[in-house]
Formats: sequence, C-alpha cells, structure tokens
Amino acid sequence: MKEILVDNKKKFYSKLFLYKTFLYKRVMFKSSLDDEELQGIITALNIKKKSKRIEYIYDYSCNRIDKFYKGKNMCQFKDGQCINHQYPGCNIKNGCCRICINQSETGCKTSNLSCKLFYCDNVKKNNETIKFKDMKIFKLLTFRQRIIILDNFFANREEFLKELKLGLLVYHSLMIVYRLMRSSIILRKRRTSWIKK
Ligand code: SF4
Ligand code: SF4
Repeated sequence: MKEILVDNKKKFYSKLFLYKTFLYKRVMFKSSLDDEELQGIITALNIKKKSKRIEYIYDYSCNRIDKFYKGKNMCQFKDGQCINHQYPGCNIKNGCCRICINQSETGCKTSNLSCKLFYCDNVKKNNETIKFKDMKIFKLLTFRQRIIILDNFFANREEFLKELKLGLLVYHSLMIVYRLMRSSIILRKRRTSWIKK
C-alpha cells in the first residue's frame, strides 16, 4: 500500500475532503507530529471499511468530549437539580435528560454524541464549551451525517450509529419524531408521579 507522510497540518486539513474518498482507499497515512486530534484523524483515515470508520469517529469524538469535561460540573448539579431548576418549589430533577429513556439513577446509560455537544445558553454563557466546529474529525463525514450529529438527542449509541451509517435524512427525521413521542410519554408519566407525591 502507498504511504503518505503528514508533516504539514494546514495542507493536510485542506485536503481532507479528498483523502476521505475511495481515491485514497489504498493509501496509508502516517505522521510523527505530536497532535492528538491529528493522530485521531489519521487513524480514522487508515480504517478503510466505511462502517468501522464511522464507529471509530463516533467513539473517538465521544471520548475526546468526555476528556474535556472530566471533573467539571458544567450544569452545577445539586441534589439532582441543574442550575436551571434550582429555584424554590421546583422539583424537576436530572436536567434535560429527564425525559430520556437512557437516563438512569447513575446518569446516562449510553453515549450520545449530540447530547455531549449540547449545553443550554445558561451554561454556555459562563463556561468554555466544545462546539461542533471544534471537531475537525467531523470533516471525514458526509454533509448528511454531520446534519444528523447536530440534533440526534435521546438516541442510544447503537441507534445513532445506525442512522449515521444509513445517512438517510428521511429515516433520521422519522426517528426524531419517534423519540420525541417516546419522551413526551415518559415526561407525562413522571409529571403524574411528581403530582402524586
Ligand atoms: S444543559 Fe442546561 S438544562 Fe441541561 S442539564 Fe445542563 S444546565 Fe440543565
Ligand atoms: S441520551 Fe442524552 S438525553 Fe438521554 S440520558 Fe443520555 S445524555 Fe441524557
């Protein structure tokens, strides 16, 4: 297999739209530059099977975001209530995860990339956050896959990956509607139990 040595980041990033195509299927990328993000992108490019590359990009991105927020209480949770719900009389718990089927006593049971990239304005105005545009590795995805990442809240990892691999916006939209309906049913049940308490 042919090899390409990456020694100029700017040049490399400007050619990513080409490197990710089938034209470079028989090319391996290498770099000795000490740059975690660049090495992540190179690893992804060296995975030639489409579905495996998507899985790698997904897990790499989730881990990178987790690492960035590790040890930071961004939503300032106190007794299960985030900063938005700490006012007298409010009994809402678990912030914006409260209507999600993946939420549990110990937090999120899955890994959702859209959720990891989301913070409400209240958090964003006082903290440094990772934004979609900060994730250069997303350039390896198609336009439709990037749209899916923007708003695929409440999906579990497997559902999310399925939508990315299919890359069909119609299917993605149907799944959003399905999950919103599922969430509204859960929210109604939880509200009923709060009222009864
Ligand atoms: S992002 Fe905002 S609404 Fe969601 S849990 Fe954090 S503070 Fe609460
Ligand atoms: S999938 Fe998203 S909304 Fe659901 S529990 Fe996990 S982080 Fe919260």
